[in-house]
Amino acid sequence: MAHDDWLDHAAPDDHHADADDDQQTRPLPAGPDAPARRDQAIRAAVEQGLVGPTAPTAPAGPLVCLLDIAGVRASAAALRGAFEAVTPPGTPVLHAFAVKATPLVPVLRLLRAAGIGAEVASPGELALARAAGIAPADTVLDSPAKTPAELRQALALGIAVNADNPQELARVDALVQSAPTASPVGLRVNPQIGGGAIGALSTATPTSKFGVPLRDEGAREWVIRACLDRPWLTRLHAHSGSQGMPLEMMVRGVGATYELAEEINERAGRRQIDTIDIGGGLPVNFGSDEESPTHAQYARRLKARVPGLLDGRYVLVTEFGRSLLAKHGTVLARVEYAKKAGGRPIAVTHAGVQVATRTVYAPLSWPLRIAAYDAKGRPKGGPAVGQDIAGPACFAGDLLAENRPLPLLEQGDHVAVLDTGAYYFTAHYAYNSLTRPGIYGFSAYGDDVRFAAAREPQTLDEIVAEAGGGAERDALRYL
Ligand SMILES: *Cc1c(COP(=O)(O)O)cnc(C)c1O
Repeated sequence: MAHDDWLDHAAPDDHHADADDDQQTRPLPAGPDAPARRDQAIRAAVEQGLVGPTAPTAPAGPLVCLLDIAGVRASAAALRGAFEAVTPPGTPVLHAFAVKATPLVPVLRLLRAAGIGAEVASPGELALARAAGIAPADTVLDSPAKTPAELRQALALGIAVNADNPQELARVDALVQSAPTASPVGLRVNPQIGGGAIGALSTATPTSKFGVPLRDEGAREWVIRACLDRPWLTRLHAHSGSQGMPLEMMVRGVGATYELAEEINERAGRRQIDTIDIGGGLPVNFGSDEESPTHAQYARRLKARVPGLLDGRYVLVTEFGRSLLAKHGTVLARVEYAKKAGGRPIAVTHAGVQVATRTVYAPLSWPLRIAAYDAKGRPKGGPAVGQDIAGPACFAGDLLAENRPLPLLEQGDHVAVLDTGAYYFTAHYAYNSLTRPGIYGFSAYGDDVRFAAAREPQTLDEIVAEAGGGAERDALRYL
């Protein structure tokens, strides 16, 4: 969808507030801006041999992923500032980064240092958050399929748990009775406000698999009773959806959750629900370098539409993923061959379905910007020519872009796939046994660009081991 749509419903006063708030809440890092930093990093990655023609895998393979550390820090600070600007001083707000967006321990550590916690939805994600040293009090467990063992572990550690459904709540009942826990416990609700532009990412549809569907007959009353019967049930959680959701719909989902909390508290005669977890899902603009919408715009919209949520009576939890990391990641790949078919130029690169799975399988929902660089890593000029940007995998659909107007790419050039810091190279797809590329954080001070590995490139030995290479020889043969 056009990113303008997200702003269509802007409250009339939004624009006045913009300039002031943006200064307050978007402290841009000193030095070059994000596109200039990216250009510098790409040039340096080529010059320093981070990406090169020499080996099938690392250290200088044909594919590398880059993370702009100054950008990540700026987004974390902007997120915190956005909610500080709309809540009374001292209002507790936990920003729990949705680990699935960028499941990398060094990134979680970086975010932790910036005052951000973790939202986890699997034993693996919880292990990453713990490895990053994120405190249980700053960790939230959501997942629609938590096993008894996972629940027991979370409650033993004191991690906040959002129960998804009545059956899970019954399991929590038993655990809470059998052992004391420091974990705050919440209930995930589905406000059923409808879907956004991308069905697979719309979590608040009438038939979504997540949470308790509030508008189903009897469900709302069930939630209220469930809370009144359990004094320790102190949170409500809603995550109305991700990329493709209009801001206004997200606000409506949060509003419905807030109203439910108010009703529960009124019927309880006390402030039983003390925390509202509003989920994540702020859409990202994949069409340009502009960050739009911003966390500040979303926070102001919430303030205008759901003021009671932000007046200091409730502890807040947020779970943003994509909006914190997407803009700060770049895939850089060599053009291995430049060919032509049916009159169409095709650049065969090393970036394909393994690092951009959603774009390859659902190109209309997930278009990505691609930038052309020459063999030395300098931005490539020249007239735009429609060409396909193909990946290395052995199926015809492995294309990052079709007929994309770009300066004509040649063998040895590079392509940069932009805005890929969340859910792209961090959610590797193992098709064709393609190795997971290395991921390097970078910083640029003047001409000095420095890299540090956030994840080493996968080796061929690791590929073999993960493919059962360590299993007993001939294990299958004697079955
Ligand atoms: C995926 C997810 C998020 C993060 O969504 P983004 O679109 O990356 O912000 C937050 N909460 C829950 C429960 C999720 O499943």
